[in-house]
Amino acid sequence: HAKAQGKARLEVFDRSLRTRAVERLELEAGLREAILDGQLELHYQSEIRLGDGALYGMEALLRWDHPEHGMISPARFIPVAEQSGLIVPIGAWVLQTACEQAAAWRAAGHTGFVMAVNLSPRQLSSPSLARVVDDALRNSGLPAHALCLEITESAIMEDPEAAQAVLQRLKALGVKLAIDDFGVGHSSLSKLKYLLPVDVVKIDKSFVDGITEQGDDRAIIAAIISLAHELGAVAIAEGVEDSAQADALRAMNCHVAQGYHFAKPLPAYRCLSQSETLSAASPALSPTLRTPV
Ligand code: C2E
Ligand code: MG
Ligand code: MG
Ligand code: MG
Repeated sequence: HAKAQGKARLEVFDRSLRTRAVERLELEAGLREAILDGQLELHYQSEIRLGDGALYGMEALLRWDHPEHGMISPARFIPVAEQSGLIVPIGAWVLQTACEQAAAWRAAGHTGFVMAVNLSPRQLSSPSLARVVDDALRNSGLPAHALCLEITESAIMEDPEAAQAVLQRLKALGVKLAIDDFGVGHSSLSKLKYLLPVDVVKIDKSFVDGITEQGDDRAIIAAIISLAHELGAVAIAEGVEDSAQADALRAMNCHVAQGYHFAKPLPAYRCLSQSETLSAASPALSPTLRTPV
């Protein structure tokens, strides 16, 4: 009886495993097509200085506009791109496209902002990364200091010493480096040294969610902000969804914030039209592409 039950359970397990494997393969095949077919696009989300409401940066976020399934979230397809290695050509396209967009906005007079681009662990271990970044800068004419590369803690902690060598090469190009999703990567503070000098620390949304409530999130955010200050880095709070959270962060001397409260990720043409139509409005209503002093 127990054996029969065990077998039944195994079959269920098998089936769901198989379904997942098939789904993954389909996603991978679709992604290959997406690359060739131009179904990938970038949206841009602004990062706002809490002190004066000016634009600090724009983060490029990948979107897959699937012909049948509509918009597929990067949370779903980046892991597949990562496992299959497709993230390397996709990542090169992201870097090139984001740098070109940033250069175009700069040419239109918006010179004071930083373009932020996410890098995955697989890109970090790709020997061509520094060359790909350098090519994107050269081809677009974007100055290196106007590009910030976002890397998660966990990507670095997989192999800190190898990551450190790559990060040094990137730093040598003159680009900025950010730690993304800081605080959820299960790393010890001592490992942070592999990332130094870091320019930006992004405080994970999970802490920001609890900032106005009783509990430890406030204390953790305060600690991350003070750590960032001590390291000479800019602290950016992620996922700010209301004015109470923004006010709390401002009171805690957090430099910069990002989230739906300020702006959602938007296609490039909408970022520009938003800045043009809203440029006469108050800073809080005009989160995109206003050149900081
Ligand atoms: P991330 O870099 O931490 O980006 C922030 C995510 O939070 C984005 O999700 C953004 O749309 C979302 N977000 C921003 N503000 C709010 C808010 O107020 N509320 C809520 N609920 N969400 C907010 P998205 O675009 O789905 O991207 C998810 C993740 O996928 C990114 O997390 C990043 O790790 C990865 N990703 C996105 N684009 C790329 C890319 O070009 N390359 C690589 N390697 N990874 C990427
Ligand atoms: Mg990011
Ligand atoms: Mg993040
Ligand atoms: Mg995040």
